Amino acid sequence: MPFCVYPGSFDPVTMGHLNIIERAAKIFDKVYVLVSVNTKKSYLFSLEEKLDMLRRSIHLDNVEIAATEGLVTDFCKKVGASVILRGLRNPNDYQNELEISYFNHSIDPSIETMLMYSDRDNLFTSSSSIKEVVLCGGDASPFLPKEIVDEVVKRIDEKR
Ligand code: ADP
Repeated sequence: MPFCVYPGSFDPVTMGHLNIIERAAKIFDKVYVLVSVNTKKSYLFSLEEKLDMLRRSIHLDNVEIAATEGLVTDFCKKVGASVILRGLRNPNDYQNELEISYFNHSIDPSIETMLMYSDRDNLFTSSSSIKEVVLCGGDASPFLPKEIVDEVVKRIDEKR
């Protein structure tokens, strides 16, 4: 199978992301998890912190962690990936993903976007809902890789 690139903010990586990555790693020869930097967004974690959390959470030989400030399609070309992989939880995701996929296709029609449904356990998992859970005093550990739970909870608590 070809190589795929799974881009996102990963602020921080969640069990929903991890599930997509683990399933993709069984299908594709190589999966590049790409932290894409959106200059308009403000993040809880720095790029280095996000890369470090991804590295500590993922233990699969055919998964590589990378970052870009440029176009995802340019990164695909650079590493020889022909597929952009995205995750889908609900109709809101669909609308957003449709726009991004048309945009990427217009830039480079040789690269296909493929969508993978969330598993049932992570249908409502998102980086932002995790922040809300912690801020409301709830337990976010079921939604986060065990390697990063303490660090994420501490950072959100500090931002209160
Ligand atoms: P974005 O900045 O686009 O929101 P994210 O880091 O939140 O990036 O997510 C990257 C990709 O992973 C997106 O395609 C998003 O829809 C998908 N995703 C996020 N959470 C989940 C989840 N729980 N299940 C499946 N896909 C998910």
